[in-house]
Amino acid sequence: MSSDTQTHWLGIVGGGQLGWMIALEAQRLGIRTLAMDPSENCAARQAATSFIQAPLDDIGAMHRLARQVDTLTVETEHVDYRALEAVAGQTQVHTAAEVLGVVQDRLKQREFLARHDFPQARFFNMEDASEWPDDKGDYIIKSRFGGYDGKGQARTGANGLSGAWQEIESVPAVAESVVEFEREISVVLARDAEGHITIYPIAENRHRNHILHVSIVPARIPDPVAETAEEIATGIATALDYVGVIATEMFVLPDGRVLVNEIAPRVHNSGHYTLGACVTSQFEQHVRAVCGLPLGDPGLLSPCVMLNLLGDLWSAGEPDWSGLLPVDGAKLFLYGKTPPRPGRKMGHALFMAPDEQTALDHAQACFESLAMGAGLAPERL
Ligand code: AMP
Repeated sequence: MSSDTQTHWLGIVGGGQLGWMIALEAQRLGIRTLAMDPSENCAARQAATSFIQAPLDDIGAMHRLARQVDTLTVETEHVDYRALEAVAGQTQVHTAAEVLGVVQDRLKQREFLARHDFPQARFFNMEDASEWPDDKGDYIIKSRFGGYDGKGQARTGANGLSGAWQEIESVPAVAESVVEFEREISVVLARDAEGHITIYPIAENRHRNHILHVSIVPARIPDPVAETAEEIATGIATALDYVGVIATEMFVLPDGRVLVNEIAPRVHNSGHYTLGACVTSQFEQHVRAVCGLPLGDPGLLSPCVMLNLLGDLWSAGEPDWSGLLPVDGAKLFLYGKTPPRPGRKMGHALFMAPDEQTALDHAQACFESLAMGAGLAPERL
């Protein structure tokens, strides 16, 4: 395909909103995209040049995709890494199958972090009874495979470790100590094939029901904490020999220590703010990194608050955007996903302002009016 058109083709495995935004930014750079997803009306299809409808573990479809593109990337870590491995000889694959193999298994991910001495909460393999601690400590049990946004997780309560494990049907799982954190942050960075790294300003993240609710940028953390977080994230990307955008979610403890919660080897929800508040968005940066173009300026143009718009806000029909759209510094992104279900990520809004408090006030006022329109409690962000 590329030799006919002299155009670079980028294959995107997964057709959610991340794939949609990768395709939009690729198009701006003159790069054509071929997205693959099981759902024919997936978000990415709206922007992709071309589309293959197939399950993400369909090796035959993965071969068809690989044959047609110059570079292959993924927008979700829930892709069978063996399928990526199988097509690695056919096209340039970023994200590398080995990286997915480490990251999509929570136990392997924790062991990778431990091997490289990256700080993290205490953890153990639930399937190895000899590792179970005697104490009655507080633990979160997380399924090793397939969990995201708090799915496949249970916290120990009165019934202890075994009770919590039963709640997630005793699937292969890791247990992690509950961290009494002061803040959650994420470092989103890009690394190119030569090892050059550009780091975005750190986001401070607030979750609701385990799903990201708002990101505040820049994170309100002291400089030494930010430097430590950047060092850890850089170390992880380098140790993985990763190419593309990668996010590392971390907990900041009251004493300033930083623990790694999770690695996401892809563009990330907490980096959506870069679409309005940075010179180069994370999606453009990812496309540049994986397609072998020079990385762009990650610099912050303005403080920003990102508000996720979940399907709950659609409970009384399409929300009324007329209060949000005219706000100074506001930008709205709707992913075109149907149907809107509670907890489903339907879109996000950015609020840029000269200072963070003003951005937060704008986000709060818009969230309250959207929540009230949907008959929900207008909680504090
Ligand atoms: P995860 O799916 O691992 O990203 O977890 C989703 C959210 O659950 C995190 O962003 C935290 O708010 C919370 N969480 C996860 N693991 C822990 C932990 N070990 N201690 C405290 N909170 C946690």
